[in-house]
Amino acid sequence: SITGFSLARNKMATLPILHYEEKIIETVERNPVVVVIGETGSGKSTQLSQMLHRHRYSKIAVTQPRRVAAVSVARRVAQELGVQLGEEVGYAIRFEDRTSHNTHIKYLTDGVLLRESLANPELDEYSVIILDEAHERSLNTDILMGLMKRLVKIRSSNLKVLITSATLDGDKVSKFFDDCPVLTVPGKLYPVEVLYSKERPSSYLESSLKTALDIHIHQPEGDILIFMTGQDDIEKLVSKLEDKVRALEEGSCMDAIILPLHGSLPPELQVRIFKSPPPNCRRIIVATNIAETSLTVDGVVYVIDSGYVKQRQYNPSSGMYSLDVVQISKVQANQRAGRAGRTRPGKCYRLYPSQVYQEEFLDVTVPEIQRSSLAGSVLYLKSLDLPDIDILKFDFLDPPSSESLQDALKQLYLIDAIDENGAIASIGQKMAELPLEPSLARTLIEANNYGCISEALTVAAMLSAETTLLPGQRKTDRKRKHTISNLPDGSGLGDHIQLLQIYECWDQTDYDIGWCKDNGLQVRGMLFVRDVRKQLSQIMQKIAKGPLGVRAKGKTEEFQQDYRNLRKALCVGYANQLAERKMHHNGYRTLGFHAQVVQVHPSSVMSTDDLGKFPDYVVYHELIATPRPYMRYVCAVEMR
Ligand code: ADP
Repeated sequence: SITGFSLARNKMATLPILHYEEKIIETVERNPVVVVIGETGSGKSTQLSQMLHRHRYSKIAVTQPRRVAAVSVARRVAQELGVQLGEEVGYAIRFEDRTSHNTHIKYLTDGVLLRESLANPELDEYSVIILDEAHERSLNTDILMGLMKRLVKIRSSNLKVLITSATLDGDKVSKFFDDCPVLTVPGKLYPVEVLYSKERPSSYLESSLKTALDIHIHQPEGDILIFMTGQDDIEKLVSKLEDKVRALEEGSCMDAIILPLHGSLPPELQVRIFKSPPPNCRRIIVATNIAETSLTVDGVVYVIDSGYVKQRQYNPSSGMYSLDVVQISKVQANQRAGRAGRTRPGKCYRLYPSQVYQEEFLDVTVPEIQRSSLAGSVLYLKSLDLPDIDILKFDFLDPPSSESLQDALKQLYLIDAIDENGAIASIGQKMAELPLEPSLARTLIEANNYGCISEALTVAAMLSAETTLLPGQRKTDRKRKHTISNLPDGSGLGDHIQLLQIYECWDQTDYDIGWCKDNGLQVRGMLFVRDVRKQLSQIMQKIAKGPLGVRAKGKTEEFQQDYRNLRKALCVGYANQLAERKMHHNGYRTLGFHAQVVQVHPSSVMSTDDLGKFPDYVVYHELIATPRPYMRYVCAVEMR
């Protein structure tokens, strides 16, 4: 609407980066690569693309490490320009493309840009590529930096690359890109008073609650931003805050609205963050570190920092993931504090002593490339088949350990993606075309040979949508096995088969929305699964160069009962993720490179002995340590 548009304009006029337009354009014109460093909220994500577009750069790609940010920033820019989202301004995230032939400014996740470069290694439809939020040091952005270095040499005359970041060490990146210029956009940050607690609280949740209420009752107006670690503790804190605030309101204290903010929040709830609150109403925003730099929430005056972040880490020597709550780095702590000083002087309450900050916090965050499984990335780089790129010598800003590269190569060899010389195999080439992790991609390809591709596509789609399937995921996780009634017998075969059966039941209702609700499944999640399944199916048809291997109904029956072929395909894809039963309860020993004793995760249909039988051999989707080692998503290979 016209009103919305002029509002946006007013707000834009104050964004610091707009004062540097001339300087930025001039520098970009003279240099293939430019680093732009600017305080969070200075307008990098929303303004740089528009600026370049005003100066006749034709098609601009802006990458974001997070899906939410890609969508939210694209929506904002479309609104500022007064255009329909998906037309001149659009976004593309995995399994969701909202762009058209008209799109000039395209926000996309770094993973999607990597994928695009598979089909078009020179990315020549873009005249500008902006790698935004580079300070997050996501695995994909780090790989893109290496590829961009090469690409600007090949396309020197017609490609501009901008690397933008809130906190990145500009000199290091500049050196990486042959001493490219670094532009610093001074932010307009008001002073933030930092207050430390005397000691670590026994519960940061309770301590956040207490601090927030204290601020709400005693401090002048201004929104409160609380950094929690994940959806779980956010939901708990939000509900506690709601109770307390309601009680206060009855005692006629100032109004407050409590808003959660995390990556798996449905889009309609996310946008509430950007709406101004009614007058005399304080907002209390409870967020993950998504509010640290990737989404700027205006109006915050008070920050409560738990000092923790939830981080997924991979250990190449055990092949295990852990989702750990770890201490943030100093850089992160200062970013969080800075959120309080955007509109006027603010306060940051650190729920840890200053000595802990000084002595225990790392200076900078460990880049994701040094704490991830690299199988997917290595497969991707190999499939690019660039004559001048050797994986073990790839030009990384910070190289991963050779142990984790070796681990990736071993994994890929075991599932036939590369040969014994490390060269990509034809199966590997096909796998790389699927936007799935290598094991799952391998399973699909095998399933196509076994005539059970339809079932495998369903399983892959269900696994991909995991986070959107169940309401309040964690809470129901344990109960998942009880949510759906009337599933055909077969649950004894494990989680993959159950996921398949859930989808097949829904399919038989002709995708009835009421059925999802009755069975405690998120409608949005199930619709997403259906869409993902369709997309994967199209990619498979392209890879298979023809119709997919689906058996005629009559013939499937004999296989259907125990889904034998699907389980066989899973064994091939997850060949390094097999486990053998040990005698006691649900204890297993993993086979493969990293033998260890593990248990079936409590969320699995196989975690209890309801059926009186544990299979002797299983394959698992992943190993996680929480902190005990568990197999998540387990499928029976061989029954006793
Ligand atoms: P930076 O990338 O430098 O952190 P941004 O360009 O993301 O800065 O943000 C600039 C301004 O635009 C901020 O005031 C922010 O609140 C606002 N903004 C960003 N995204 C949205 C959105 N989806 N809706 C409304 N405002 C937004």
